[in-house]
Amino acid sequence: MKRTTLLIPILLGMILLTACGSQQTSDTSKPVSEQSLSTDAADTIPVSHVHSFSEWTIIKNATCTEPGEQERLCSCGEKQTQKIAATGHTFGKWTTVKDATCTEPGEQERLCSCGEKQTQAIAATGHTFGEWTVVKDATCTENGEQERVCICGEKQTQPIVATGHTFGEWKIAKHATCTATGEEERVCICGEKQTRTIAAKGHSFGEWTIVKKANCISEGAKEHKCSSCGYKENEKIAATGHNWKEATCTKPKTCTVCGETNGSALGHTGNIGEKCSRCGQALYPSVILPKTPINYNYGNLNSGVINQISYNFNEYGNLIILELTFNVTLTKHTPGFVSRFLVKLYDKNGIVLDSRFIEFSLGLNETGIESIIFSQVSWNKTNTTELRVEIEEMD
Ligand SMILES: [Zn+2]
Ligand SMILES: [Zn+2]
Ligand SMILES: [Zn+2]
Ligand SMILES: [Zn+2]
Ligand SMILES: [Zn+2]
Ligand SMILES: [Zn+2]
Ligand SMILES: [Zn+2]
Repeated sequence: MKRTTLLIPILLGMILLTACGSQQTSDTSKPVSEQSLSTDAADTIPVSHVHSFSEWTIIKNATCTEPGEQERLCSCGEKQTQKIAATGHTFGKWTTVKDATCTEPGEQERLCSCGEKQTQAIAATGHTFGEWTVVKDATCTENGEQERVCICGEKQTQPIVATGHTFGEWKIAKHATCTATGEEERVCICGEKQTRTIAAKGHSFGEWTIVKKANCISEGAKEHKCSSCGYKENEKIAATGHNWKEATCTKPKTCTVCGETNGSALGHTGNIGEKCSRCGQALYPSVILPKTPINYNYGNLNSGVINQISYNFNEYGNLIILELTFNVTLTKHTPGFVSRFLVKLYDKNGIVLDSRFIEFSLGLNETGIESIIFSQVSWNKTNTTELRVEIEEMD
């Protein structure tokens, strides 16, 4: 700025040279007299004079910080003075006063010929570390450590993360059985061992086989066997319960499977000599027979035994016929001798209903069957429900 402000008045002065002779003496109208220039003999210069200045001569040298001054003269005695701008410092190269370290800034300075000194910080370099080196290896479970060192001796440490276990394959240490768990294990390179359980397999049962059949009242049993370990498991088979068939006239309520009975037969419904209204069975009286065997003896020569007496009812229309059958053996026998017996039929009140003779005409030690038939009995519906047979020796 100062240079341009200097140049402008110089140019203006030169313009004035042409106007010098014709101009009025009034200073205030001359731009050249403003500010930086002063004209000593302005009042005395004749209006027609044109200044002719000498070269500028330095009166005071400018320094780095202080402006200098120069002047020039006209033959008329007119003097112009002008400032010379301060030069500003001219510094030399920066020189290091104190080296920067990794952590501390350094300092540098530079000098001007005037003795002015500038100082400036040199930034700390920061550490310059070498490569990381392992101080302690990491293991499966423990962190290791590594470190690096700066040229300044500063040391940094850093953990090396534990690697974690590196296990091998699982191997069976103990096989599982049907009922017991097994175990398998795996081992890390560091020796660490892990175990885990193998579930029990459970039995592999085959088909059930019946050991004891259940019946109506008692439970049965069945078993099945594990094909791997041979273990047998038993289970009960529930009793089936009776399979009842309802009572009939002649049979009580009866299980068709086991024959077990419950209660008694219903008995026929109806009168002797008629048919049961329930089952249609012809209704006969019950018969009480003499106890056998019956030994008989006619003197020393004729004797025998009635082994058995049985009876049978036959029906001819409304007529009921009772047939008695005798099974007889003669133990002594005189040829021509006839053994005779009287067979009596009583009702339940002891009244004789009928009687018949029976004769045995057999050889010695022969066994024979003889029978007699009661066909003329009056079947009283109340008294003939029970018949009794008696046998009487005649000779
Ligand atoms: Zn002059
Ligand atoms: Zn200086
Ligand atoms: Zn360092
Ligand atoms: Zn490990
Ligand atoms: Zn098993
Ligand atoms: Zn039964
Ligand atoms: Zn009946």
